[in-house]
Formats: sequence, structure tokens, C-alpha cells
Amino acid sequence: TIQQVIKNFELIHEDFTFKLEVYGENLDNPLVQISENHLEQILIIILDNAVKYSDQIHKIDISLEEENGMVKITVRDYGVGIPDEDLSKIFHRFYRVDKARSRARGGNGLGLSIAKQLVEGYSGEIYASSTLGKGTSITFTLPLIENR
Ligand code: ATP
Repeated sequence: TIQQVIKNFELIHEDFTFKLEVYGENLDNPLVQISENHLEQILIIILDNAVKYSDQIHKIDISLEEENGMVKITVRDYGVGIPDEDLSKIFHRFYRVDKARSRARGGNGLGLSIAKQLVEGYSGEIYASSTLGKGTSITFTLPLIENR
């Protein structure tokens, strides 16, 4: 599913490079506890933002790691970044950092709140880290299904 979503983004955004890196042996074809549709939606929201809030560097890194029975998916961009004081609020409904800047890029401030609801509905977590002017990482976790 992740590869398919990335492939679609590569087709739509030809000027961007998307790199998927998988860390850990158990993650060759990990089975996570989520509907394919919902996983797609979460990825689209996060990747869409990564593209939208990139500036000069059109590079997006996606990584998969395993941690305590969870799969950890991180989408990293090298874009405009988010000020520290706004980091915790970006998952709130209708919250947008720097209204003027954000409006120029379109959007309602709903994407990440929807992603958060979906992830938490599957007992996962979602969080952000960012450096203003350097880029942003959005990470979410989902429970792995063991013993398949
Ligand atoms: P939409 O409703 O279309 O998703 P949006 O992008 O404004 O619009 P969210 O996805 O909820 O809404 O994001 C909230 C705010 O967080 C954005 O307005 C933007 O300011 C900030 N943001 C989100 N992702 C990034 C990112 N990768 N880099 C920089 N800022 C980001």
C-alpha cells in the first residue's frame, strides 16, 4: 500500500524525489492492523503536506521501522518547517500555521486532524518534529500483526 501511494505521488509530482527506506527484517512485508483505505488516506494527507510545504528542496524521505510491536512510519521533508510553538497544534481541527502563508498554498487545516483520528482509531500515535526553515518529520505508529 505504501509503495503504491508513493508511486502515485511520483507520477503526479515528477519534480519530487520520494525515497522509501525500511529498517528491520520483519518489515519486508509488514502486516499492520488497519484497513488499506485508511492507511492510504493517512499517507496521502501527510505526503500531500510534505509536497505542499516544501520549498527549494524537492525531496521526501519515507521510513519504516519496528518498535515494540508497532510499525513506525515517518515522512520527512526539507521544506519550510513549523515553529516550535505551533507543533502541538497542527493536529487540531482547522489549525493552520501562519494563515497568510498557508492560504497561499490552499487547504482548510483539516488534513492532520483527520489523520490523527484515523491513527488513534487503530491505537496508534501521530506526532511531528520540525526545524523552521529546515524541514518537518511526521511520524505515526500502527500495531503490527504478529504470527501471521
Ligand atoms: P488541508 O485541510 O487541505 O490538509 P492544511 O494543510 O492547512 O489543509 P493540515 O494538513 O491539518 O491542514 O495541516 C495543518 C497545518 O500544519 C498546515 O496549515 C501547515 O501550516 C502545517 N503543516 C502541516 N504539514 C506541514 C509540513 N510538512 N511542513 C510545514 N508545515 C506543515
